[in-house]
Amino acid sequence: MDSAVAMARMAVQRALIFLGPPGAGKGTQARRIAERYGIPHLSTGDMFRDHVRRDTELGRRARPIMERGELVPDEIVLGMIEERIARPDCRQGFVLDGFPRTLAQAEALDRLLEAHGFGRPLVLHLVADEAQLLRRLAGRRTCKLCGAVYNMYDHPPKVPGRCDDDGGELVERPDDREDVVRQRLTSYHHQTRPLVEYYRARGVLVDVDGTADIEAVSHQVFALVDRIAVP
Ligand code: AMP
Ligand code: ZN
Repeated sequence: MDSAVAMARMAVQRALIFLGPPGAGKGTQARRIAERYGIPHLSTGDMFRDHVRRDTELGRRARPIMERGELVPDEIVLGMIEERIARPDCRQGFVLDGFPRTLAQAEALDRLLEAHGFGRPLVLHLVADEAQLLRRLAGRRTCKLCGAVYNMYDHPPKVPGRCDDDGGELVERPDDREDVVRQRLTSYHHQTRPLVEYYRARGVLVDVDGTADIEAVSHQVFALVDRIAVP
């Protein structure tokens, strides 16, 4: 059941959406489930950070907005995600992390999924309390090479400051500073939180206890996704 061989025969053929506030564990869990099913992990935050690093036109537009902890305008996000979902590696399903974040994005995603022949998405809503979110964001470090996420408190690397997988340098995200974190939580509550009801009303959302440790959360997520996977 848990073996890679068994999973290799299973396909998700859906969009799996991770919804929840910053620090709830979306990135970590999204990576794990994408790996389990061999489907792409689409993080709009990672895509923007990549544009910023490469200093593209899109990166230059997004950067000041991200530094304030606000949301990048819908049309920019949508253009980027549309192009990504249209690629052939997404045909067996994909994992969305940090998208959609506004009602307009959720509605556009519905149209995109329909256009690409996907059925209803599965929305995994990671629930965590505010104190825990702040602690997780304060301790978060990301590998410069592969983007793996560590936490100084909950999930430290084996060698301090270095990624377990590739030895890459672990760095703090500039938007994990306390004042920016507060704005990101505000953006979440005002613009993204309404999506919980949007998806719940459609019967496609499940609450997942995000306060548990990484392994326990993965266990819940794997069980939920395995149930809808098809041979
Ligand atoms: P994340 O890594 O998901 O926390 O995203 C980092 C930053 O990128 C956010 O604070 C936003 O400024 C921007 N961003 C990422 N995804 C979106 C989205 N779907 N809509 C608007 N802005 C986004
Ligand atoms: Zn790494």
